[in-house]
Amino acid sequence: MTEDHIAEVKSLEALIGGSFPTILSKLSSSSRTIPTNRDFHSLYKSDEFKRPIDEIARTSQCVLETIGGKKSMTFPGDDDAYESLVKVNDEILEKFDDSIDEFKRNRKMEEDSKKAIDVKVAESDKRFEKHGKAKAPFHLPTITKPQEEYKILVDNANKPFDHVLLEKSEDGLRFIHPLEKLSVMDFVDKNLSEIIPVKPLPLEETPFKLIEEVKDLEDLAATLQSVEEFAVDLEHNQYRSFQGLTCLMQISTRTEDYIVDTFKLWDHIGPHLRELFKDPKKKKVMHGADHDIIWLQRDFGIYVCNLFDTGQASRVLKLERKSLEFLLKHYCGVAADKQYQNADWRIRPLPDVMTRYAREDTHYLLYIYDVMRIDLHTMAKEDEQSDSPLVEAYKGSYDVCMQLYEKELLTGDSYLRTYGVRSGNLNAVQLSIVAGLCEWRDRIARADDESTGYVLANKTLFDIAKDMPITTAQLRRLLKSKHPYIERNFDAVISVIRRSMQNAAAFEPVVQSLKDWRPETVVEMNIEPKIEKTCTEASSSSLSLKKFSVDDSKKQSSSGFGNLPSKRKFESDKKVKEEVKASKSKPNEVIIVVDDDDDDDDESYKQSSETADALNRVSETPSKGSLSMTQKPKICNKEIIVLDDDDESENDSESREEEEMRRRSEKHRRFMNMKRGFLNI
Ligand code: AMP
Ligand code: ZN
Ligand code: MN
Repeated sequence: MTEDHIAEVKSLEALIGGSFPTILSKLSSSSRTIPTNRDFHSLYKSDEFKRPIDEIARTSQCVLETIGGKKSMTFPGDDDAYESLVKVNDEILEKFDDSIDEFKRNRKMEEDSKKAIDVKVAESDKRFEKHGKAKAPFHLPTITKPQEEYKILVDNANKPFDHVLLEKSEDGLRFIHPLEKLSVMDFVDKNLSEIIPVKPLPLEETPFKLIEEVKDLEDLAATLQSVEEFAVDLEHNQYRSFQGLTCLMQISTRTEDYIVDTFKLWDHIGPHLRELFKDPKKKKVMHGADHDIIWLQRDFGIYVCNLFDTGQASRVLKLERKSLEFLLKHYCGVAADKQYQNADWRIRPLPDVMTRYAREDTHYLLYIYDVMRIDLHTMAKEDEQSDSPLVEAYKGSYDVCMQLYEKELLTGDSYLRTYGVRSGNLNAVQLSIVAGLCEWRDRIARADDESTGYVLANKTLFDIAKDMPITTAQLRRLLKSKHPYIERNFDAVISVIRRSMQNAAAFEPVVQSLKDWRPETVVEMNIEPKIEKTCTEASSSSLSLKKFSVDDSKKQSSSGFGNLPSKRKFESDKKVKEEVKASKSKPNEVIIVVDDDDDDDDESYKQSSETADALNRVSETPSKGSLSMTQKPKICNKEIIVLDDDDESENDSESREEEEMRRRSEKHRRFMNMKRGFLNI
């Protein structure tokens, strides 16, 4: 062995001592220390050289296993030793490089996402700045779906909603709302002269609690147990789920405000709050609660008894406007910033400005309730026979509570409820494509718990139907903006279109019936008409012309359907809106709903194109039972005129109570008819 070789052995021996990182760094430079192929073989014969080399091999193997490389490796003797050693060394270095890369990648991703969050926060801060011009975003696509994050279970199956907590009628056909066993008169305040309106403290001076833990929910329930009345409101999202999702529940007592994070406490809300909402002795004050009532049923199995709806009171008091914004200004001198009404309420943590907005929705309600009760009490009756204004307001509120949630169901003719189908002037092929695409998007929306409008916006649906693309290239050309669901399903969409085209003949009679309808009668009245029918049953699936025909021997206005003026035009141009509906259960009954509501509710629908698209689902008309935002039965703003004789004669011998019961159930029946009309165009 030469001097050089002895030095090499020394440096090799030095290699095998030390901790893992030291060994690793030593090994990484050992390629240079290990003699080249030819020298290696002659040296490997001597023990002094072989010992450290074998040790290096062992250490290398150990290192490789530690960093997740080869599990076992035997170090071959003699001839293959050099290759093996170099190979294992290379592998270590390669692995190490990979690990470093991965580490760098992770680090970068972490930094990027931190940056993204910062940008998001900065953006939302800007948007949510109190006096900022920007509108609160309707949809924040970056939000993880709460259904997934909080494991919220929903049943989107195409089956009717089961009110599992309600009793059924004897015939088993109807659910019985707990209110049915109670009388409105039980809820009407007795000692009104004693009422002194209690002004709430300013928001800033009012204790506020965000309820995110079960323990706090228990405390809230205990607090509510001890009060006589509380105010409630909900915030909701209908764009990123099939049936809609309650995002927040705001509650105010006389002295405190609460916001319940419904996502975090989803399964606990019903068990803790259900009895309080049902308690007929406890007053619940809400504003325009039609939607809130059914959202509470759907998401938490909560059925409200003893409601004072300030929207109903505004109707009875004939206030110039019925919006909460107006009431806040009128009674409290508060200018509410309504830009958040339409915000994406799924956002967490809730930005301060949205918390404030949400609190404002209930903070003043109990005071408004006090003043309204006094105003109603002092208001003169319409005439001798009619109810007192206060009773009238409670009856309206009672009817709001009596609504029962019904799930949107897909039937063979659901597509006819798609907004725009009647005014679209479509031929049979196009109509068939509309039907096919409606079914396709419904199926996906249910499975993915998305709104149908999110899966495929109405506008795009009609663009496709009108264009009739039969190749993916044609379809691709048609799409102007991003359509993730179509892009992921080009082939499926094309095959739906092709199949629909083959099936077009079946749609000829429908096209004809859509064309036949003429709105003369109502036009003569100089009111833009909107004729709608309630002819669909959840179970129906055939497409026959007969199905849509109504006995119109008496009333021209009920002679058909379709060809409706555009919703936008219809809503924005006229102060007086008329909706003529025919109900299947009573084919001769035509209910005209005169909407004199000129408040700004609908104004907020006219938004940016993103929002317009986003609102697509809500501006189409879902099937009976579920409520669409544009079609909400704002019964407080509508007068219902039933044109048909009800052929229900008054029976003098009936007791006052029986009469009251009958009146109520009749009113409820009419309301339900009207509601069905709204929902089942
Ligand atoms: P509010 O009763 O005003 O607090 O509204 C409750 C929920 O209804 C909101 O969180 C929205 O999801 C929805 N909403 C209210 N008004 C509109 C509107 N004009 N357009 C769309 N959604 C609305
Ligand atoms: Zn509300
Ligand atoms: Mn609200």
